[in-house]
Amino acid sequence: MTIIIVITALITASIGCVVISGLMLFLKDQQLNKVSTYFLYIASGILLGAALLGMIPKAVSIGDSHKVAWTILIGILFLFSLEKFVLWRNCSDENCERRGNASVSVTLIGDAFHHIIDGIVITSAFLISTEVGLTVTISIIFHEIPKALGDLSILIKNGVIRKRAFWYKIVSVSTTVIFGLFAYFLSGTIKTMVPYVLAFSAASFLYLSMAQLIPEMHKRSTLKDSVTQISFILLGVLIIYLSLHLK
Ligand SMILES: [Zn+2]
Repeated sequence: MTIIIVITALITASIGCVVISGLMLFLKDQQLNKVSTYFLYIASGILLGAALLGMIPKAVSIGDSHKVAWTILIGILFLFSLEKFVLWRNCSDENCERRGNASVSVTLIGDAFHHIIDGIVITSAFLISTEVGLTVTISIIFHEIPKALGDLSILIKNGVIRKRAFWYKIVSVSTTVIFGLFAYFLSGTIKTMVPYVLAFSAASFLYLSMAQLIPEMHKRSTLKDSVTQISFILLGVLIIYLSLHLK
């Protein structure tokens, strides 16, 4: 695997996404709402497909299947606890809206941690094969764009000016590139860990899709919305299927 492909993937899935989201903020509110809603739908299909069709089968084929399953279970519980912690830090009253009240510092710290994992996962996936690398990169792009949009609006809502919010995100997202490169140069050492890194990341994709994106979709429940949602989820799965069967 050439380092050029890995670097391109790392930059596209991090800085590239923030730039796209930054540009999307110039859209009119109504258009922006529409675009981010479709991103959300398609991302949930992409994340499910990447985890269940690409990452978990790969992790099982190169690692110990029991350890892979344990890693997924621990990953889901860990993410649940992490989310609880963030909620607990940000909410004083009982019924708080998570997004609206998240403070700037918690957003940025949780964010950097997330981007570090993304970087390590992209490199690990490319160490297995180009197809898996591509699948993981696509999944990260599709969850990063709506995520960056959300994060930018939290920062702006909290009084950070637009330009500064953009640069905050660029700095935090750069950890993806830095840690991705670290992982690349340490690939000899981390090789035995690759299946479990992949399994942990698959857990985060499953969690993100089923515990965060899908509940969000249930807020729109007309027949038209439901058909659109199912179609976009299937489209997401199809994109992953095709990227896994390139060649
Ligand atoms: Zn991410």
